[in-house]
Amino acid sequence: MSQAPRERFLAMPMNDLAVVFDNVVKRYDRLAAMDGITLSIESGEIFGLLGPNGAGKTTSIETLVGLRRPTSGRVLVYGYDPIAQRDEIRRLVAVQPQHAALFEQQTVAELLRVWASFYPDPADPDDVIGRLGLGDSRDVRVSKLSGGQQQRLLVGTALISRPRLLVLDEPSTGMDPNARQDLWEAVRGHRDSGGTVLLSTHSMEEAETLCGRVAILHSGKVVALGAPDELIRQHAPDQELRFTVASGTALGELESRPDVSELSAHEQNGHTRVSLRTSDPDSLFTVLTTRLGARQIQTRDAGLEAVFRRVTGASFADIHGEG
Ligand code: ATP
Repeated sequence: MSQAPRERFLAMPMNDLAVVFDNVVKRYDRLAAMDGITLSIESGEIFGLLGPNGAGKTTSIETLVGLRRPTSGRVLVYGYDPIAQRDEIRRLVAVQPQHAALFEQQTVAELLRVWASFYPDPADPDDVIGRLGLGDSRDVRVSKLSGGQQQRLLVGTALISRPRLLVLDEPSTGMDPNARQDLWEAVRGHRDSGGTVLLSTHSMEEAETLCGRVAILHSGKVVALGAPDELIRQHAPDQELRFTVASGTALGELESRPDVSELSAHEQNGHTRVSLRTSDPDSLFTVLTTRLGARQIQTRDAGLEAVFRRVTGASFADIHGEG
């Protein structure tokens, strides 16, 4: 576990820090939804909050916008206390909720125009519509939008205020691949124009693609914190290998190697298709090609998903939010 030392961020100038969680506990009866969370998010970061269902991601987001009062510890957003200085937080932070009762009879363009009118220096609604790929739906009533289009609109309602800190809670849920690309571009655009982004996600691909740093939460604690590449090197340096051997090839030699784990084999079109993980791909490669006659060898990094599994002990369903 690589929780940031408290001294590191507490010594930083406050205006470089968008968010500080300093040993935050949020208790519901006997359950600690946040169990001593300490981390900071610097201005200009795209920061990801990951974790299995119930890990404390939404609770963390709710404490930083003042919707939940921590049982103990301190939360600061641009140096402000989210509960005592709620007006400052409203001015600086916009949250895209997971669900929201939108104005069903308004069109997309009308809704964003109304939303924009709430803020002193809003983005141009047409620009937000374009950035989120909602151009074809701009005159469609909200009640007629598909789930993925409604999701884009929810993100749009957060973008329209041009917040200093944009908070997105599982923003790509239900989005098709094109919509996700638009969303990712919009998130990067927000960062490039000087904003900071905090997003919770169950998509390891999204986190690896977008986030400079991530925190993985588990049972209310930070169990990993850092850049995706760093975490992969630290927790899951193995490679995944897939290859084909002739049916009936003995795999005992592979199974007994200390660098090999998670070996599985199944018959496919008269051959045996094998997948495994190894911490020593170079030497294994030699064995596969010289002694086992392996073909169609494919390798790939284990990735953030393997890190997630190692530090949380979570299943595939946990990772993909199907729990
Ligand atoms: P998900 O990925 O499912 O959205 P999450 O990481 O956002 O999960 P939270 O919603 O923060 O998790 O919940 C953390 C824990 O706190 C869960 O066990 C949840 O049941 C519990 N919890 C959240 N809100 C309350 C509440 N108001 N009263 C009691 N328990 C709560």
